[in-house]
Amino acid sequence: MPKYDYDLFVIGAGSGGVRAARLASKAGAKVAIAEQVQIGGTCVLRGCVPKKLFVYASEFSQSFRDAKGFGWTVDWARFDWPTLRDAVQDEVNRLSGLYAKNLEAAAVEMIDDRAIVVDPHTVRLTREGRSVTAERILIAVGGHTLRPSEIKGQEFGITSTDAFTLENLPASIVIAGGGYIAVEFATVFSGLGVETTVVYRGERILRGFDHDIRAHVQADLERTGVKIICGSTIEEVTGLSDGRKLVSLSNSMKLEADHVMWAIGREPNTSGMGLEAAGVRLTDRGAVAVDEFSRSSVPSIWAVGDVTDRVNLTPVAIREAMAFVETEFHGRPTAFDHADIASAVFSRPPVGSVGLNEEQARAKGHKLKVFRTTFRPMKHIIAQNEQRVLMKMVVDTQTDRVLGVHIAGVDSPEQIQLAAVAVKAGLTKAQWDITCAVHPTGAEELVLMGEPIAHDNEAPA
Ligand code: NDP
Repeated sequence: MPKYDYDLFVIGAGSGGVRAARLASKAGAKVAIAEQVQIGGTCVLRGCVPKKLFVYASEFSQSFRDAKGFGWTVDWARFDWPTLRDAVQDEVNRLSGLYAKNLEAAAVEMIDDRAIVVDPHTVRLTREGRSVTAERILIAVGGHTLRPSEIKGQEFGITSTDAFTLENLPASIVIAGGGYIAVEFATVFSGLGVETTVVYRGERILRGFDHDIRAHVQADLERTGVKIICGSTIEEVTGLSDGRKLVSLSNSMKLEADHVMWAIGREPNTSGMGLEAAGVRLTDRGAVAVDEFSRSSVPSIWAVGDVTDRVNLTPVAIREAMAFVETEFHGRPTAFDHADIASAVFSRPPVGSVGLNEEQARAKGHKLKVFRTTFRPMKHIIAQNEQRVLMKMVVDTQTDRVLGVHIAGVDSPEQIQLAAVAVKAGLTKAQWDITCAVHPTGAEELVLMGEPIAHDNEAPA
């Protein structure tokens, strides 16, 4: 008789949990996965997937304008919100169904319940009211959008999750925050014709990205009609009798809008999970503290994805899950390397970024050659579209290694995936330069960057 009910019990069926469950089961383990909402997690249900579909929808307004320069007449274009909203929800549900099918095909037992940890080998299914045991427990419960509980009237605000299913397209929206979600939703709503205001506490949106990229994106969002108020926060939200909201800012401004949206970050879903009582150490931000193999302070409890608050991106959760299965079910200790992870912001223009930016590289003591180019893509010239591309390459002077590539411009999320291979492989600028261009493309500029805009001396400071 086996000592435990399962070899592995996974809590949370998002990208990380599903991948771990499937791979462990394929490796011969007896696996169950519990999910309290719907299979798919943040990425599929209320993150990357619906967001990207909304971004596509929002891009048509510019495409229709661009088309005129190429001889098309599209003055009849109209947008219908319920059509988009419902089509996106259908697609999300289809993908969720596919995830479930894949789990079933991999012989993973799916449990529709909220599971919490009781002790290092026991999980309680709260709705069913029963407990099960497992040799290993994997916490893959993700995170949720923060609400500013200290702000009066915060309950009048929506989150990105609500934004996907609004009954009507608002005429105006105020978005709090200047990170990924704020910028992406400002792009979406303004592209769909919504009067959009971003309220950000810092000096410039997209903190953490290269300063030139931040300036470029902020300028282009403003050029295309997004109002960005920096150095300010929302102090109070009041509901008006007509359903609109009155927003009071710390700089004394007052704004009225149909909706206010909080995009001020996310936090790990560890509350009420029984983790601390079971001996699992949490970080100051409430994330599960793990080692490089994703093992928590309790040897039989592991965690991957946003609940660990390392790099909160879907492909990272998947890689962490794969490394966990390699380590525990194939006997090959594997730590996922979190260096040089590329990411994209689906803003206007979109951003693709990998490796160190100029500030980070200098902070690490590198002497740099910095290459930068900016140009209007071929398609935009006839279209009389003023949007430009900015490309930046950060190179170590001593080794000639390309430390980072940062692009703001059309197709940059696609371009950065390939640039990431070269950055991860540690290629030098000279190796980029001997690579022949593909013409006419925007990406060819990446192998044609001639003179640096800055060139530090090789001698140490
Ligand atoms: P981010 O951490 O990216 O941004 C949060 C923003 O809110 C920052 O601008 C921050 O300001 C601001 N902020 C934080 N606290 C407050 C506060 N109390 N009052 C006012 N402003 C505040 O979080 P997001 O919610 O945008 O996204 C969460 C995470 O999800 C991302 O970091 C990313 O890992 C992931 N994600 C990835 C996407 C992608 O890959 N395309 C898309 C969406 C999300 P400050 O800069 O000053 O700290």
